[in-house]
Amino acid sequence: MPHPNNREVILQGTAVSPGIGFAPAHVLARGVATPETYSISEHRIDAEKQRFLEAVERTRVQLERLQEEIERISGEDEGLIFEAHLMVLEDPALSKRTNKAIEERKQNAESAFFAVIGTYVEAMRRVNDPYLAERATDIDDVAQRVLKNFSSVKDSDEYDSPDHRHIVVAFDLSPSDTVSMDRNQMRGFATEQGSVNSHTAILARSLGIPAVVGLAEAVLDVRENQPAILDGFSGKLILNPTHETIRFYEDLRKQKRDEQMALQELREKRTQTKDGRSITLSANIEFDQEIPQVRESGAEGIGLFRSEFFLLESGTVPNEDQQTEVYTRLAQGTKPHQTIIRTLDAGGDKLPAEPLLEPEPNPFLGWRGIRVSLSRIPMFRDQLRAVLRASAHGKLGVMFPLVSGLNELRLAKDILKECMEELHKENIAFDENMDVGVMIEVPSAAIIADILAKEVDFFSIGTNDLIQYTVAVDRINKQVSSYYRPTNPGVVRLIKNTINAANDNGIWTGICGEMAGQLELTPLLLGLGINELSVGTHQLPRVKKALRSLDYAQCTSMADKALQMPFARDILALSREVAQSAYPDLID
Ligand code: PEP
Ligand code: MG
Repeated sequence: MPHPNNREVILQGTAVSPGIGFAPAHVLARGVATPETYSISEHRIDAEKQRFLEAVERTRVQLERLQEEIERISGEDEGLIFEAHLMVLEDPALSKRTNKAIEERKQNAESAFFAVIGTYVEAMRRVNDPYLAERATDIDDVAQRVLKNFSSVKDSDEYDSPDHRHIVVAFDLSPSDTVSMDRNQMRGFATEQGSVNSHTAILARSLGIPAVVGLAEAVLDVRENQPAILDGFSGKLILNPTHETIRFYEDLRKQKRDEQMALQELREKRTQTKDGRSITLSANIEFDQEIPQVRESGAEGIGLFRSEFFLLESGTVPNEDQQTEVYTRLAQGTKPHQTIIRTLDAGGDKLPAEPLLEPEPNPFLGWRGIRVSLSRIPMFRDQLRAVLRASAHGKLGVMFPLVSGLNELRLAKDILKECMEELHKENIAFDENMDVGVMIEVPSAAIIADILAKEVDFFSIGTNDLIQYTVAVDRINKQVSSYYRPTNPGVVRLIKNTINAANDNGIWTGICGEMAGQLELTPLLLGLGINELSVGTHQLPRVKKALRSLDYAQCTSMADKALQMPFARDILALSREVAQSAYPDLID
């Protein structure tokens, strides 16, 4: 049922790129349009094959142009998204099967191509794997372009943008849709599909466009030009907003802008509590193009560089020299602060290390994190050598994800040591004292933190995973999301155990999971004795303000109390109460 003309409708999704957009909806058609099908005579077969070849060639030229365009706007890594599209296009099996289908079916080229590409997409969608589902969207995108390019009329590769401000509403958006859009007129993306790690979400963030994904199916009932507001902070698409709603969002937008301006003033200020406890506040990033945002946010370096995004985006892992360039840019771009490179964390809900691998029954409990690196030693060595080489150009640190015990940590450190010895022999400079850390994100690692602390320079607690493994709740499964509670007493005690072990061994502890940016939990984390918080750049100034408004001594006694509490909700309420009185303007 289409949304009624005038009643306000609020659709809830997942906010993946912050900001508020006001504009009429512009609805994109779903999926790939079915082409016309007709029979051809024997003597047309070669001509149809030729038409197919030409459509593919035209598509290739367009994709290469789009790739250049996105590289110009957002940098080389974003452009690599189109490598995946070009690979689909150049797949010899695709052309072989299409040509065969033209011959056997004696049908026009577009219908033969449509049938063949449909089997690819079907196969990928049938496997219950988020990565392959996203690749299916890439294939749909390529298919759409090739089909358009069969037409002899010269088809523009311009996205059909209205010439007025609009919010794009779609089933899903492909990277090429996103890049082709008129960014001057676009006020946001709202899609039924998609996830935080989808290409579209990544691009929205780097282009600074508000975006909400994973909206209910109701998104498909949105009508062209229906008035809308997109709330990229709380993940809402509001259709036919009432006057009150419009006023609320105008105020909110103004408040966010004022806040942003006011927070700018904090940029150069130290991150210190009212009673003088210093905390290192650093940034989480995925791409080196985010270095300017890191600097603007006032971060003291990068606490988590999720290297898998750039390593796996193009389908082939960059070699040692290519990686050295990226890590060097990070080292130089964040001087005099530190950048911590997290080694490849493939698997789970992330990009797989090897796209053609058989899907695992329990990917979160499977081949991910350090386990992948330890079973692909040459790839791991390339990464470690690259990090070491870049460490000569600034302050770098390295840390290992998903370590469950001392064995993996020792193996990883041994390989690092071998890489250091090799570089010595090759007379290649590196920082001999580069910090080596371990992520604490598996309960067994948190429990033996006293053992691990003797082997590393720091701990970085990955609460996103630590919560899911401690409470046994899949971090992306909506059905059990009410169990995913950062203040679960078991989680809070594991964090405390980790901090105690670090203190006893003279090393520091940070948190780089999403919990580090949750302002109602800042008093709790501070009180537990955390030394570093690493958060997304858009959230960082708020966390700085929160920390500067708190009293460490008060938070310590609050945390002591929290550690004795049996219920997650009570721990949350306690921390929230302190937050509310210290910085009411930042708490909803
Ligand atoms: C975490 O698990 O908290 C973390 C920071 O790592 P990721 O979210 O990349 O798994
Ligand atoms: Mg993790």
